[in-house]
Amino acid sequence: MRIDKMFQNNDITVSLEVFPPKVDSSYQPVIDAVEKLSACNPDYISVTYGAGGGTSKNTLGIASYIQNKLNITSLAHLSCVSSSRDEISELIEKLRSAGIENILALRGDIPDGMVFPEAGFYKYAYQLVEEIKSRGNFCIGAACYPEGHIECVNKADDLDYLKAKVDSGCDFLVTQMFFDNNVLYSFLYNALRKGIDIPVTVGVMPVINSRQIVRICQMAGTSLTPKFKTIVDKFGNSPEALKQAGIAYATDQIIDLVANGVKGVHIYTMNKPDVALKIISNLSDILKVSR
Ligand code: FAD
Repeated sequence: MRIDKMFQNNDITVSLEVFPPKVDSSYQPVIDAVEKLSACNPDYISVTYGAGGGTSKNTLGIASYIQNKLNITSLAHLSCVSSSRDEISELIEKLRSAGIENILALRGDIPDGMVFPEAGFYKYAYQLVEEIKSRGNFCIGAACYPEGHIECVNKADDLDYLKAKVDSGCDFLVTQMFFDNNVLYSFLYNALRKGIDIPVTVGVMPVINSRQIVRICQMAGTSLTPKFKTIVDKFGNSPEALKQAGIAYATDQIIDLVANGVKGVHIYTMNKPDVALKIISNLSDILKVSR
């Protein structure tokens, strides 16, 4: 099913995310993870795209398994930083052949030392959006950044570029993770004032690993809240306690988001079905009255 249709039909859309295996030998654990995630009854599951592009066949394989074997809508991420226009063209047609209707069009992070863009490559995600749009029949999502994209020094410019990306043919947006819901509300307000009125799914990351989260936040330009820092300081050395606190924090964030009228929640489950199952179970009655 097209994801934009879900936003028309559902009061709230709940989605999960997995990343594909880097090597073929770890394919089965990812399949096992998506099978377990299906018990969360998600509206769709997204599959990320390896930064270097080398695992694109695994994104296709896992997205296709979700779509065709589990009968759950899949959203395939596609980034253009390390694949030429011709390679991208081939990938889009492979996604179509696999029955995948939803693509998250991304630029991807530019690897250190890379001369970018090389001849025959797209420079920005909006160009990829235009390309997918020109092929017809895909529902196209794109990324947005409540705290601004890390490369863009001026938030107002970032929002202007986002508006241009949306106008090039996006059907919905998915946000970068954030830990302060007020940052999200302010972003949504400013986006709407700019005329960005397509559905926005908000990305929530349950934090269960202290070192990993510090690194991810530095890379993504996401701020940790004082409340969250206190949790990491106190429980960072105790994986089980941090996991419990991370699940509680994400649950609390989602309750506030849903109560404030957010229509799409995307949980960055990162191949951890137990974490997703716990959060969805914590929200069972809330989702019942909101769906
Ligand atoms: P763009 O929209 O092209 O923006 C990139 C930068 O260029 C921004 O700073 C923007 O302000 C600026 N810009 C845009 N248009 C213009 C213009 N016309 N002129 C000048 N400047 C401009 N990465 C992966 O490798 N694989 C994934 O699966 C993946 N999934 C993601 C999912 C989500 C929900 C999010 C939020 C991010 C994801 N990323 C993923 C990371 C993403 O690829 C990086 O954040 C990347 O650096 C930017 O990608 P983009 O699509 O937002 O780029």
